[in-house]
Amino acid sequence: MPAVKIAIIGAGPAGLTLARILQQNSIPCTVYEAESSRNNRNQGGTLDLHPKGGQLALKEAGLLPIFHKHARPEGEASKIVKYDGSVLWDDNVMEPWRPAAEGEQERPEIDRVVLRDILIDSLDEGSLKWGKKVLGVAENEKTKGKFNVSFADGSMEQDIDLLVGADGAWSKVRPLLTSEKPFYSGITAIELWALDAEKKNPWLSQYVGQGSVFMFDEGRAIMCQRQGTGAIRTYACVRRPESWTKECGIDWTAADARERLVAEYFNDCGADLKRLILESRDEIIPRQTYMLPVGVKWASDACAGVTLLGDAAHLMTPFAGVGVNVAMADALELAKAIIARKESITAKLVSDRNNVARAIEQYEKAMFERGEQAAAKTMHGLKGHFSATGSEERAGRIKKGYNMIMAQKMEKKQKD
Ligand SMILES: Cc1cc2nc3c(=O)[nH]c(=O)nc-3n(C[C@H](O)[C@H](O)[C@H](O)COP(=O)(O)OP(=O)(O)OC[C@H]3O[C@@H](n4cnc5c(N)ncnc54)[C@H](O)[C@@H]3O)c2cc1C
Repeated sequence: MPAVKIAIIGAGPAGLTLARILQQNSIPCTVYEAESSRNNRNQGGTLDLHPKGGQLALKEAGLLPIFHKHARPEGEASKIVKYDGSVLWDDNVMEPWRPAAEGEQERPEIDRVVLRDILIDSLDEGSLKWGKKVLGVAENEKTKGKFNVSFADGSMEQDIDLLVGADGAWSKVRPLLTSEKPFYSGITAIELWALDAEKKNPWLSQYVGQGSVFMFDEGRAIMCQRQGTGAIRTYACVRRPESWTKECGIDWTAADARERLVAEYFNDCGADLKRLILESRDEIIPRQTYMLPVGVKWASDACAGVTLLGDAAHLMTPFAGVGVNVAMADALELAKAIIARKESITAKLVSDRNNVARAIEQYEKAMFERGEQAAAKTMHGLKGHFSATGSEERAGRIKKGYNMIMAQKMEKKQKD
């Protein structure tokens, strides 16, 4: 019997999670990734996995124990600072207070590269193809309802029954389903790294503490995070036009780029905040942030046999820190919809394509809702982060949560 041919484009958290859960359920699939190896590029910072998002997907994937081994619950610590440097909240000077359900942690951080390695190592041998940059996808002219994928290395994969675009912001699969394209969010983040801060810059390491430092203000923000490697990554963000990085007059390759950035956009900030930027000397990378419209959808039968996951489906800015959780929840839900139809999907797909279509329909209905909610939350986060009272509001929300938990603990103590 011919097995269904499932191709997943992109080895990010979404594509890898989907592949792992399918393979664990004896449903073969292949992941095609543009990068040439797992060490191809710096995979960026750390991600916090939520109990009902990334953690739930990893549980289903049988990877929760290894995740806990590498996760850093202490990375949840937040320090909230006003633009003038005054500290409004600092978890680092308090006893841990965030609750955790039994056997779970609330929102522990994990380095992106570590999460990716855990997922990659869990896949069937040979099922992840590196160096397969997709150039284009199209329906097979001879066999309608099947798809061909062409790669930059000149090769082609043909007759795919289920094509999953998990290829991030600039998805090559998306155009089969919708004409929507990512647009600039209005925010540019200057990414700065102090790679060995723990050893080389005790002040920076101590100031940042176990987790993150946040400063939110009108039209600008500083977000700084300790990595599991001891590195510190800072985003100095400004609300500026898309062309700003090229037209602002700062040469991002010059030695004085940080000094210019601070002098022109953060000069009135507290000395500690300025040091975060000035002392992150190892790398500086300007990044414009992009998003898809909130609530982007397409008809489920727009192109039967094709669907999208994660950023490919609902790209959002990082200002609510939910993107990876939604991406992994997508992967879990699509896997479940396929597994529920496993018998017919794996046995006789050619004559029963409806099962693939029904699995996609079931998945997309919930995914559109989940994506819209997360994107709306992210838009709210973007507005809040870049408003004059952003720091006070964030600190206020944490305080409220803290007071509530303390009151619950007190009540429980009195009852006991
Ligand atoms: C600066 C920044 C900080 C963030 N911080 C957080 C955070 O703290 N918490 C959080 O939840 N989310 C965060 N996010 C969002 C999060 O990173 C994404 O939502 C998440 O990575 C989406 O996963 P994905 O698998 O859908 O896509 P991606 O992680 O983008 O993975 C896509 C994969 O597809 C590959 N690919 C792309 N094009 C092709 C092609 N043509 N052919 C083959 N392969 C291709 C890529 O190389 C990549 O491996 C952040 C995002 C950014 C930009």
